[in-house]
Amino acid sequence: MAGCEHLEAAAGRDPAPGSRTACQDCLALGRDEWAHLRLCTECGHVACCDSSPLRHATQHHRDTGHPVVRSFEPGETWAWCYVDERLG
Ligand SMILES: [Zn+2]
Ligand SMILES: [Zn+2]
Ligand SMILES: [Zn+2]
Repeated sequence: MAGCEHLEAAAGRDPAPGSRTACQDCLALGRDEWAHLRLCTECGHVACCDSSPLRHATQHHRDTGHPVVRSFEPGETWAWCYVDERLG
């Protein structure tokens, strides 16, 4: 299987997170029910995962086209490419 160019590009990126502890989009809505946090490797946007009610990380991808999120949970280092639906 060929490598995913998005994950390869994302591996070299280290954007400053927009938040340390919260989904930025939930905060903006006054909500606090997220399950886990994801970091957009393109712009540093921090948003909630698909196990959360509002799924802001996926929405951020749809809104911006930014392809890769990294887990923002302590001890987790995996990344996910939305375009190729691939774990890196
Ligand atoms: Zn990809
Ligand atoms: Zn959220
Ligand atoms: Zn982004």
